[in-house]
Amino acid sequence: MLLYKTFTFDSAHYLPRVPAGHKCANLHGHTYTLKVFVEGKPDPLLGWVIDFNDLKKAVCPVIDELDHNLLNQIEGLNNPTSEMLAIWLWNKIITNLPGLKRIELNETPGSGVIYEGD
Ligand SMILES: [Zn+2]
Repeated sequence: MLLYKTFTFDSAHYLPRVPAGHKCANLHGHTYTLKVFVEGKPDPLLGWVIDFNDLKKAVCPVIDELDHNLLNQIEGLNNPTSEMLAIWLWNKIITNLPGLKRIELNETPGSGVIYEGD
């Protein structure tokens, strides 16, 4: 069973490696949506895979590093595409959440990336 929780955060970024004239080279912001999936079987006694509150506690400190910040200034995010940000999030979240199965990161409602680790 896959259990998930959705988080949002607001961050600014620019993409330093895009071709000249590309609009993403300009400083701009997104309201990102992050869906974090944990895989497991419901505990026979408790009836849940994980306490939603424990999932929140594992993810929120990572989100706090990004929220209302310029992503390019954060270590490991000098080229903060959705793809690089998803890998960065995965590597941070999995240390708090060993059952992590998948993350879905959207930078707009229609544009996003799914990552399940290497
Ligand atoms: Zn952007």
